[in-house]
Amino acid sequence: MPSPVPSEPSFPMNVSVPEARTMLAALLPDPVAETVAVADAAGRFLFADLEARVSHPSATESALDGIACREADTVTAGPGTPVRLLVVGESRAGVPFAGRVGPGECVRIYTGAPVPDGADAICPVEQLQDDGPDAVHALRPASGADIRLEGGDFRTGEVVMHAGTRLTPARLALAVSLGHAQVSVRRRLRVALLSTGDEVREPGTALAPGQVYDSNRYGLAAMLREAGCDVLDLGHAPDSPERLAERIGAAGGADVLLTSGGVSMGKYDFMRDLLLEQGRVSFWKVRLRPGGPAMLGGWRGLPVFGLPGNPVSSLVVFQVIVRPALTGETPFTLRLRAATPFRALPDKTAYWRGNIEGGTVSDYPKQGSGVLRSLSDTGALVIVPEGRPVQVGEDVEVMLF
Ligand code: AMP
Ligand code: MG
Repeated sequence: MPSPVPSEPSFPMNVSVPEARTMLAALLPDPVAETVAVADAAGRFLFADLEARVSHPSATESALDGIACREADTVTAGPGTPVRLLVVGESRAGVPFAGRVGPGECVRIYTGAPVPDGADAICPVEQLQDDGPDAVHALRPASGADIRLEGGDFRTGEVVMHAGTRLTPARLALAVSLGHAQVSVRRRLRVALLSTGDEVREPGTALAPGQVYDSNRYGLAAMLREAGCDVLDLGHAPDSPERLAERIGAAGGADVLLTSGGVSMGKYDFMRDLLLEQGRVSFWKVRLRPGGPAMLGGWRGLPVFGLPGNPVSSLVVFQVIVRPALTGETPFTLRLRAATPFRALPDKTAYWRGNIEGGTVSDYPKQGSGVLRSLSDTGALVIVPEGRPVQVGEDVEVMLF
C-alpha cells in the first residue's frame, strides 16, 4: 500500500507549540454569549467585561470591633496613660449611629459598621477598659488605618473583571459582591471525544496480553470538563478506516473533535490516513516531547485535533496545546531552581515530568510517554527549550499539572 503521506506535503509539518495553539484556536467558533445565574457560573468564562453595580465598601466602615472616636483625642494614650472617652452610642453592621461624635466622645463600633460623622479613627476592643457603662479608657492611640473607606475596594461603574476571565470561586464571589445575580458567559464549547485502537478496552472488562484500558478517553474527558467544555463522548473505535469514519460521523453538533491514537507513523494509524486522504490537514507533528505526532485537520467542516495515543503524550498535548486554545487562557508557568539536570532535545521543546519540593524541581526517573505515573506522581512539567539543557542550580520554567 503506498504511503498516504505526500513526499512534499501541502501542510506545515513540525510546527512549534505556540503555532499549534494558534492554528487550533483559529478553527474554533467565535464565543457566543449565554446568561446564567451566578449560582451556575462557577468555572465559566466571562463573555463581556464586568462592571461594579455598587461600591464596596458601600459606606466608610470599621475593620475592627472597638470604638470610633477622634484620633486627636487619643494621641497621648499609652499603657501608663489611658485616655478617658465618653460613650455616646453604638454603630453596628446594618444599624449605624445617627448622631455625631464630638471631642472627648466615642461610639462602640463593630466590624463592618459605618463610622459615624465626626469620628476619624478606631481603637480596638483589646486596647479598651470599661469605666462604667458610659465611658472607656483607651490604652493606645486610635488609628485611621482601621477604617475602610467607601469604595476603597471598587466603585460603581468600575470594570473589575475582563471578558475571557474564568470564574474561579474567588472571582465568582467577587461577581456577586459587584452586584450581579446573573452573568453573561461564553457558551460552553461542545467537544466530541473519540479514542482509537484495536488494543484499547473499556475499564471493567478483562484484558488479554497486549491490550490496554482506555485511560486516555477518561483522562481527557475530565480535563475537558475542567476546562469548561461539554463533552460529547463518541466512545472508542477500532483501527478500521470505515469504523473510524462512521464514529466521526456521530460528532454532529460538536464544535471540535478530539481523537486519541492513530496519528503516528505506523501502518495502522488510520486517523492520520483518514485526514490525509479524505479530510483536511492543517499541520502534522509538533516540536515537543512527549506528544510529537499530534495532528490538526478537519473532516467535513468539523475541526479535528488528533492527539497521540501514548497516555502521557495525549494528556500533555491537551494541557500544553489544546486547553489554551479552547479556553483562551495563557498557561501559567513559574520559575524554579533545578535540583537535578534536565536533558534538552536538539529539535523539540521537552516537557519533562518533575517533582517540586522546597522551591526546587527534580527530574522524575521514568520519562517514557507510556508511564502515566510520571504525571500522577509529580505535579510539574519542566519546560526545557530546544537544545538548551538545564544544569543543577539553574532556574527553569515549570508548568503545574
Ligand atoms: P498510537 O498513538 O495509536 O500508536 O498508540 C500509542 C500507544 O498508546 C500504544 O501503546 C497504545 O496502546 C497506547 N494507547 C492508545 N490509545 C490509548 C488509550 N485510549 N488509552 C491508553 N493507552 C492508549
Ligand atoms: Mg493505535
